[in-house]
Amino acid sequence: MSDGVAVDDAARVAELAERLAKVQRRIESATAEAGRGHELPTLIVVTKFHPAADIRRLAALGVRDVGENRDQEASAKAAELADLPLHWHFVGQLQSKKAKSVARYAHAVHSIDRPALIDGLERAIAVEQDLTGRGPLQCFIQVSLDDDAGAHRGGAAPGEIPLLADRMAAADGLELAGVMAVAPLGADPEAAFEKLAAISASLVAVHPAATSISAGMSQDMEAAIRFGATHLRIGSDILGSRPDVG
Ligand SMILES: *Cc1c(COP(=O)(O)O)cnc(C)c1O
Repeated sequence: MSDGVAVDDAARVAELAERLAKVQRRIESATAEAGRGHELPTLIVVTKFHPAADIRRLAALGVRDVGENRDQEASAKAAELADLPLHWHFVGQLQSKKAKSVARYAHAVHSIDRPALIDGLERAIAVEQDLTGRGPLQCFIQVSLDDDAGAHRGGAAPGEIPLLADRMAAADGLELAGVMAVAPLGADPEAAFEKLAAISASLVAVHPAATSISAGMSQDMEAAIRFGATHLRIGSDILGSRPDVG
């Protein structure tokens, strides 16, 4: 390794450390302001489009939860970083045929929006549990908070949640963690996360263990924390802007 590479690496580590600390301070003050005491939400660092080397640097800074949205990229990074104690969260739209691959590395899937995907994941986790004894897959039902179908950012309609939840609760190897949503573009995130909190409460009334709420990105994490987010998915405020691909 040349000195140039070593210096660049130190600079990137310092940059990531500073950005991570800044986000952690925002989370701490928003949690305190929301009167949620010291119960900090789980920070998932969304590393899509950024190299595996950055994830290794983040792990050395104490990050344990990382998020990815494409199976091909996620599975390659998880294989390369198999020596690290990381939890991999799949947060993107997922085709049922990718269930087998995701079951090999994912601790959680945040984007479950249809029965066929639950069936695919149940089969894939059963195979993987036989092979490796892996633990259950944490599953979030992604909810669409868009009234306008044209602005759809993925997820099931709120009315579809009870059926999906019952199906998931009955599936071996899948654990119903709770709900996930992305605030609609151009809308007030407070209103969106307030709606999500109500949806979560109705789910918990039937499935008392499904208390998790995956909500909040770089731009709207404070609003999500105010409305009970337990899992934050933060990318650009920690890693910087993503290379403009796809
Ligand atoms: C990319 C992504 C994030 C992170 O978004 P940032 O604005 O970079 O913080 C969170 N959730 C999902 C589903 C994503 O695809």
